[in-house]
Amino acid sequence: MSRYTVLKEEPSQDNVENIFETEEKIILCDKCKGLGKIEMNETVDYHKNDKEYWDEECGACGGTGRLVEKTIIKTRKLNKQELKIMGRSLS
Ligand SMILES: [Zn+2]
Repeated sequence: MSRYTVLKEEPSQDNVENIFETEEKIILCDKCKGLGKIEMNETVDYHKNDKEYWDEECGACGGTGRLVEKTIIKTRKLNKQELKIMGRSLS
């Protein structure tokens, strides 16, 4: 099975983009590092530097600690002029 799902493919014209998407994969939430919660704190006494700590549900992942990642890939034809600029020849 292919790693990519073709969303749009029109190979007959110039400058046409082909668009692919990768399969969904589950990744750790970067904001809470997979914990699903964020530690909050508030200073209750500035002189003693006393703080109160509590956890709040991570807003980025909704408390699961995981996100679904899907990458969209676009490809287009490289035209011959661009190839010359890159210093390469087709022949
Ligand atoms: Zn999170």
